Amino acid sequence: MMRSKEPLSAYFSTPTESTDEPLCPLYDKVEFKDPDTSVYILHDDEFRNKSVSRLSKAIQIPTWIDDEGSDFTKFTKFHEYLETEFQNVFDAANVFKVNTYGIVLEFKGSNSSLKPAMFAAHQDTVPPGDPQNWDRSPFSGHYDGTRIYGRGASDCKNLLIGLLESMDYLLAKGFSPERTIIFAFGFDEESSGKYGASHISKFLLERYGPNSLYHIIDEGFGVFMELQNKHFAMLATGEKGYLDLGIEVLQPGGHSSMAPDHTAIGTMSKLISRYEDRLYDPILVNVNPTLNTLQCVAEYADIDESLKRDILRAHFDEKSNERVIKLLLDDKITKYNVLTTHAADIINGGNKANALPQNVTALINHRIAHGNDFDTIMDRITGIAIGVAREHGLGLVIEDEILIEPTLAGSINIKALYKLEVAPVTPIHDEIWASLAGHYRTFYEDITYPEKFEDDVLVLSAGIMTGNTDTRHYWDLTDHIFRGQPGFTPMTSGVHGNNEYIDADSHLHIVAFYYNYILSIS
Ligand SMILES: [Zn+2]
Repeated sequence: MMRSKEPLSAYFSTPTESTDEPLCPLYDKVEFKDPDTSVYILHDDEFRNKSVSRLSKAIQIPTWIDDEGSDFTKFTKFHEYLETEFQNVFDAANVFKVNTYGIVLEFKGSNSSLKPAMFAAHQDTVPPGDPQNWDRSPFSGHYDGTRIYGRGASDCKNLLIGLLESMDYLLAKGFSPERTIIFAFGFDEESSGKYGASHISKFLLERYGPNSLYHIIDEGFGVFMELQNKHFAMLATGEKGYLDLGIEVLQPGGHSSMAPDHTAIGTMSKLISRYEDRLYDPILVNVNPTLNTLQCVAEYADIDESLKRDILRAHFDEKSNERVIKLLLDDKITKYNVLTTHAADIINGGNKANALPQNVTALINHRIAHGNDFDTIMDRITGIAIGVAREHGLGLVIEDEILIEPTLAGSINIKALYKLEVAPVTPIHDEIWASLAGHYRTFYEDITYPEKFEDDVLVLSAGIMTGNTDTRHYWDLTDHIFRGQPGFTPMTSGVHGNNEYIDADSHLHIVAFYYNYILSIS
């Protein structure tokens, strides 16, 4: 793999020197107003059965969508279910159906000087795939005594139902908030949110104004995780960027017996192959939330001293930064936290054995790392395309700009089809962060796992989402966007794959945590 010759320090957004201040401070616990109810939710059999059944029934109503022309009318049945099962919640809220199937529930607070706090989830799921590959129907909602199975069980009907359950219970206990609480449920998160979250965002901007919300907490991983034998809670404070690049090779048609040296398919293949030959240079800038994850591990877990030193110096020392990057690249999951990726996902062209292909198209998907941007990608692909165009005597048009005049032999056209910048990174180490950290400490140390924390503490760390969520549409509403829900996400949980499941315990964490968290902040 080739590495950038430019010094990495050139990318540091805020070069700072080492100080004795912790990079991952431990915040005080926040006392719960009603800890007994969280304990009850976690341990009462009757509550558990009801909760499992509510989630199970939600899974039994298919709400999957695909990328094109989805039939959204199936959401009507899902709405009917929610409105019946959580009648008290819908009765207590101002209910807005945004663009027909988006659901916004507003629980109006008495103090309008407090910024509303929003919680988000999505109603849709990815398609089930081939049901043959599942042990049971993808819509069984089967509960085996430990886990609940089915499409959407962990992405993310668990969160949507969990939020409604916590509100149901709050209302049963006479909840009357000072701070307005908003639940927002999109319906096409799995295909970019253009009908759901993007309309919800416009609606909320009109209703509350820009930068008007206290925070938004959306889906993510279960926050509770173990890293290097130490327990952490991790909330994603950033998302990678995204770029779908469309490439088109146009060459004259004709009979295959009079073929040019390279057909449009050959040209496209060469272009993609050269592009794939080199990975993007890995990069770890200070704003990358992964750095905070590592700093928390370094400050609290028992790890090798030299590694610890490198991690704690990586934000100002180039050599340390390089060694930390190398470590991340060695792991097949963490490498994506510091790499802009490219994936040639779609290709079309050619239709007859004796006819030259005239129009070959391809789509290359990118996930952009912190520190890179659209230009990083356009510069790379342009450089490679110029080479291929010259070799094959073709023209080159990038984003409608003619770089090489199209010739009789044809041309290569490259265009960004869909793009999304790296998400603004949510600030941490402020009051909102301290509150989340304190609530999670109380919840896991005192209420959920007291036995695990006899002489241990739970540290909240920032983290990164390598995929995107509905929050891509919510940037203007607040700079405090978090992704992640109470609970744990085993690597085997089958998100987007077969036999998707959620542990019932993990689901109950959502209800038990948000019950007290919402009570506390409102
Ligand atoms: Zn999701």
